[in-house]
Amino acid sequence: MPEIKETFEELKNYIGELPIGLLLFDSNKKTTSWNKCALELLELKDEDFKKNDFGQVNNQITEIIESEYITEKEIVGLSKALKAKKIITSDKNIILQITETTQESIGEMSHELRRPITNIKTLAESLLMGAIKDPDIAPKFLKNINEEIDRLAKLVNELLSLSRIKAGKVSQLKKKLDLKSRADDAIKLLQSIADKKNTKLINEAPEGYEIFGDQEQIDHVIQNLIENAIKYSSEGAVITVKAGPNPGSFQVDDTGIGMLESEIPKIFDRFYRVDRTKNKGSSGLGLSIVKNVVDLHGGKIEVKSKPGSGSSFIIQLPLE
Ligand code: ADP
Repeated sequence: MPEIKETFEELKNYIGELPIGLLLFDSNKKTTSWNKCALELLELKDEDFKKNDFGQVNNQITEIIESEYITEKEIVGLSKALKAKKIITSDKNIILQITETTQESIGEMSHELRRPITNIKTLAESLLMGAIKDPDIAPKFLKNINEEIDRLAKLVNELLSLSRIKAGKVSQLKKKLDLKSRADDAIKLLQSIADKKNTKLINEAPEGYEIFGDQEQIDHVIQNLIENAIKYSSEGAVITVKAGPNPGSFQVDDTGIGMLESEIPKIFDRFYRVDRTKNKGSSGLGLSIVKNVVDLHGGKIEVKSKPGSGSSFIIQLPLE
């Protein structure tokens, strides 16, 4: 049987014109062949691919190639929103398919937006059909409508941030940030939500510990991780922001519900929720935004979690 590399080379004239980016990696995970569309979509040159250098999206491509679990990954920070799909051939070569994601996300988004809209419509119709005259029911339905509108607004805001990040429309002003004060600000903002669940928020970052990133975006990451830690913990939990384990990294630990190891690679997917029935208020977009922000910084996220004994989200950012 011919080697996949030879077949790829033989078909190159045809593959070269395909509107899908194709990249072939050998069993040592080095690029051996690619087509024109891959170069165009990833905004790179032949020389880059020859050196196995994927420029701005190097970490993101390396992550999918190296990972045992990830078979699909969104690639962010370029002018088009892209998706990379990994196919492992029988002789352990890897084919990476790069496509644009626009069409698919419109379908997904409409589906998610339809849910609160349907709920609002049902509640408003019930009011119109007479519930408005019932003094017990009317205020409850109006409160529900108000909550659904808040949910819709949150969803739209999150979708907008996500699409701006994916379209490479977010500028970054990276500088040294003091982890202790970033975590203090996030804790101040979320303290009242934590108090309602009798949850303790602890900042263990030492004085003068620095991380490197865009302040607004990193603030968003820290807030989102703490917010999730509160959301996915029962009463009386303890949430800790810590420096390390490596220079330039930090982590948010909780003593919450945790999750199965098999769920971990999926939680960064858009709209993914481990248990949809329990988290009616959630959009499944928070961690997707976090991951995209960290990708844009050229950083990495690691998650350690066990059902019943809590989770740790570890963010490694480049040192400069
Ligand atoms: P959302 O919280 O809006 O559902 P996210 O993208 O922030 O969306 O999170 C995706 C899923 O990951 C959540 O629905 C939840 O099941 C799981 N998750 C996130 N953070 C934690 C955590 N700290 N502990 C346990 N599960 C978590």
